[in-house]
Amino acid sequence: MGKKGAKASPAAYGSRCIICGLEKDGLEVKEDYVINAMRYFKKNITKNAKNYRLVVCKECFPKYDKARNSYVKKQISYVAIAVAFAVLLIIVAAGNLGAIVYGLAIIIFMYLLSLLSYTPGVKMPPNVKPPKVGRK
Ligand SMILES: [Zn+2]
Repeated sequence: MGKKGAKASPAAYGSRCIICGLEKDGLEVKEDYVINAMRYFKKNITKNAKNYRLVVCKECFPKYDKARNSYVKKQISYVAIAVAFAVLLIIVAAGNLGAIVYGLAIIIFMYLLSLLSYTPGVKMPPNVKPPKVGRK
């Protein structure tokens, strides 16, 4: 008999795609401070840590790639606007301490705002090309 039945690989067990939410294998998500913070939150506050290995499956990669690009762009522009605003504020207030604190608060706020569309990076294996994504 063929190997048809062996398609569900055991490697997929415990991996979860962050886009479709299915237990699938794929490119592993990079653990960064946002992921760590979310894990910490789940473990200590909601107590429902599942400790899945987070991945992006092949089928979801184009969708993921789009989301990641728009997230990165959004974050850069949000922070750039916030920094420009903070610098302006500090100049106008002539280095007043209150203005500096306020400026920093704006930068932090804008940064947190950009995290609303948070999309983590993935580990790209150096010898495997990511699936081609057509851009309009
Ligand atoms: Zn998926």
